[in-house]
Amino acid sequence: MRVSSGNTSGSDSRTFTVVIDNLGVGRSRRATRQLTVPFQQLQSLLQSVALRGDRLKIISVDGQPLAAPEAAEPAPVSEGAVAADALPAAPSPAKKAAVTHADVPVNLYKPKDPFIGTVIDNYSLLVEGAIGRVNQITFDLSGGNLHYIEGQSIGIIPDGTDANGKRHKLRLYSIASTRHGDNVEDGTVSLCVRQLEYEKEGQIVHGVCSTFLCDIEKGAKVKITGPVGKEMLLPPDEDANIIMFATGTGIAPMRAYLRRMFEPAERAKNPEYQFAGKAWLFMGAPKTANLLYEDDLQRYLTDFPENFRYTKAISREENNAKGGRMYIQDRVLENADEIFAMIENPKTHVYMCGLRGMEPGIDEAMTAAAAAKGLNWAELRPQLKKAERWHVETY
Ligand code: NAP
Repeated sequence: MRVSSGNTSGSDSRTFTVVIDNLGVGRSRRATRQLTVPFQQLQSLLQSVALRGDRLKIISVDGQPLAAPEAAEPAPVSEGAVAADALPAAPSPAKKAAVTHADVPVNLYKPKDPFIGTVIDNYSLLVEGAIGRVNQITFDLSGGNLHYIEGQSIGIIPDGTDANGKRHKLRLYSIASTRHGDNVEDGTVSLCVRQLEYEKEGQIVHGVCSTFLCDIEKGAKVKITGPVGKEMLLPPDEDANIIMFATGTGIAPMRAYLRRMFEPAERAKNPEYQFAGKAWLFMGAPKTANLLYEDDLQRYLTDFPENFRYTKAISREENNAKGGRMYIQDRVLENADEIFAMIENPKTHVYMCGLRGMEPGIDEAMTAAAAAKGLNWAELRPQLKKAERWHVETY
């Protein structure tokens, strides 16, 4: 079947009977349903089907069956309509047992009875000339049942009490390690923490928990809760395409994904996950010296040139087209058509983590790229979200 462009008439009164095969991407069920829709609704239906990774066939037009659906050539529909089967077929239901959301560990340890982890490492991730402090902190989890998967977060309850003498509240941090930990031996978890620093009434104030963590000594005992979060999980499909937008320490979950995809010891440990899709990381940092995990990322570029792409936005060293600071959304705008073409593929997932301020710019870039194909981003984005292909964790 081919749905071509050509008829731009707004008064088309034909009705189309279609069969939609729900392939169960991101869901467990698989179902087929038949619908009859007026021409005016066909394009949004085609968009939604393509984005969900489902399959659609037109079986009749105005009640006239199409002789052989595979070869049938229905009359043209509106300009810019998505040719549903011109898009690659949706991923087949996972070859291997996928982790369903029900299997994802959550709240194994609660604030009233936290796990007590031991600090086994705490080092700076920055090089000379960087702004501020960002540390990698690793906890030993042995002696308990705290485990997690890539994309989740844990809570930390800092020692001490607040101004009212009450125990500090927990703060959530995105996990920066894979489920196997930085030593790939299981039983550890790592965080990437920037020391929060801001000015209040003319005084420099440091964040309570981020300072507690950045200053912590090896051997210290720390109260840990969680894990939490099902928003940022990687699809189990090894052929998925993963687009990542990170600002600063928002790279934490992306670092875990990239280790799972490309780190040799991780690949050896996970025979069921040999990533073969495309991963494209957009990273925003104020200075080159503030880029995080740069050596690892360069190694992945060398070792997996066909699979990994890395685009940086260095805000205080580069300017955007308008002469302002180069932000991640400016890089997205530069690459919008390519990104949008990837998003049209049902195997593509997008992940965003870091500053909320990047979101409007990314939407703007996608709106223009979608419009160039006659599509409406405001309608497409919720469909991507529903299909569990648009993942956002921003603050
Ligand atoms: P950082 O090192 O200060 O880097 C942030 C980068 O983003 C800088 O280049 C900054 O540029 C740029 N930026 C500032 N405003 C922006 C905007 N509106 N749009 C796009 N880019 C912008 O970052 P950080 O201190 O680590 O902060 C990262 C943020 O992510 C924090 O708010 C943190 O709480 C959050 N975070 C979230 C998660 C999560 O959601 N799970 C995990 C980790 C971190 P300039 O400073 O030069 O203007």
